[in-house]
Amino acid sequence: MIIKDLKQIGDPHFKQKLNLVKDFSDSELLGLVKDLKDTLYIHELVGLAANQIGGSFRVFVTEVRKTKFRNPLKPDPLRVYINPEIIYYSEEMEESYEGCGSVAYSKLFAPVIRSNKIEICAKNINGKEFTLEAEGLLARVIQHEVDHLNNIEFIEKVSDWSKAMSSEEYRRSLLS
Ligand SMILES: [Zn+2]
Repeated sequence: MIIKDLKQIGDPHFKQKLNLVKDFSDSELLGLVKDLKDTLYIHELVGLAANQIGGSFRVFVTEVRKTKFRNPLKPDPLRVYINPEIIYYSEEMEESYEGCGSVAYSKLFAPVIRSNKIEICAKNINGKEFTLEAEGLLARVIQHEVDHLNNIEFIEKVSDWSKAMSSEEYRRSLLS
């Protein structure tokens, strides 16, 4: 297993335009997807985008599961999204805390307002198109990862910086 370093904000990868995948048998793509999955687990993340590990394709992965920071009501299996496009955003919004493996290695949490339901269209690892309706945490993770692919980091969208907290305080707040 190769564990990739998590690139941190300020790294030029976050300003580079990512490429659409055209060849689904490309060995660089297959290696990237494997590295995304491995790195997602080792860093206890629920989502990870290609540019966070230095990849250059429009790809991200999600898996909503129990981690150090999350104990989701509705777990969701590992999914790979290639050339993703969010095709629907609900008008109903929700404010909730986010952290990011690329922002101080998940040591900072702050609230972000996002649509609580979305619909995404993407291709899977075989190049087959799928659409997925998501709500709650999965919808939030998907919007966060698509933002990464578009060179937008969550810290640009924080709704109230006075509510920001350290990962330790955030975890404590979940227990209370
Ligand atoms: Zn992130």
